[in-house]
Amino acid sequence: MVQTTVRSGEKQASSRAVRHDWTRAEVRALFDLPFPDLMFQAQTVHRRHFDPRAVQISTLLSIKTGGCPEDCAYCPQSASYETGVAAEKLMSRAAVLAQAQAAKGAGASRFCMGAAWRSPKDRDLDQVCAMVGGVKALGLETCATLGMLTPAQAQRLKSAGLDYYNHNLDTSPEYYGAIITTRTYQDRLDTLACVRDAGIRVCCGGIVGMGESAEDRIGMIATLASLPAHPESVPINMLVRVAGTPLAGGEAIDPIDFVRTIAAARIAMPKSVVRLSAGREDMSAETQALCFLACANSIFYGPKLLTTPNPAPDRDLKLMGRLGLIPMRD
Ligand code: SF4
Repeated sequence: MVQTTVRSGEKQASSRAVRHDWTRAEVRALFDLPFPDLMFQAQTVHRRHFDPRAVQISTLLSIKTGGCPEDCAYCPQSASYETGVAAEKLMSRAAVLAQAQAAKGAGASRFCMGAAWRSPKDRDLDQVCAMVGGVKALGLETCATLGMLTPAQAQRLKSAGLDYYNHNLDTSPEYYGAIITTRTYQDRLDTLACVRDAGIRVCCGGIVGMGESAEDRIGMIATLASLPAHPESVPINMLVRVAGTPLAGGEAIDPIDFVRTIAAARIAMPKSVVRLSAGREDMSAETQALCFLACANSIFYGPKLLTTPNPAPDRDLKLMGRLGLIPMRD
């Protein structure tokens, strides 16, 4: 009897620990749970670490749009596809800071700057570092997504005050080659390691609805949850099918499968902020509410996500009000 009690206590303790050894079988078992059990587990885990009403609000600005040499099949900014997105130069620091100030005024706590590069040139990095310093001086957290980085570039961004670096794994290792051919999964992992080693917090997630199998979604979550440290921020995007991209004609994902992916991310990475990212513009209020019930606790706020539409801020505020959600304070 005593033995049984000790064992169940041990089991309970280990189920509460943040783990980095998730197997695919374990993650598959989460996806296979009956929906009420999946939601219950996600919420149980979530409430140990977060206020269930609090939602972190980020704003994302494209500081250098289009003309990207990479061939990510989902992306309208790739120079490989005719999507009507024109290539632009890097924005000026003053223009970026004006947008950051406006985002702060609208309630954002983090300002993310995205550039359509394979990797930044050193002269580009000089300018981005100056933007990072300026955004930080406004009292906002800073995030950047600039493509692949060397260890030295990651260090420079850290010295400039960068808080987060976004670099998504996008999908499972097995499906990655069907989506991107101009760089490898290992390239992604290498940049993530540079970012982590530089002491910058990691924002890393993926996209669902790209024609991947359920097993690929499992593989993506298992890979993220097995990184040496869980990303502090895990964006889960629903593909926005943009005309002209190779994925434009694909089938939309079942929203329930999307919600399951969010819940699995929450359970496998209990202390990470899970962001309900791209795709909200086409999502019903009810689907978004299910995503929050599955314990997504961050959104991008503002009318545009890089080049694709995002819900108007007043629509988001109304939805948060209807659901009793409040902005997360760090
Ligand atoms: S996702 Fe990024 S790296 Fe890929 S094509 Fe678009 S801008 Fe370039």
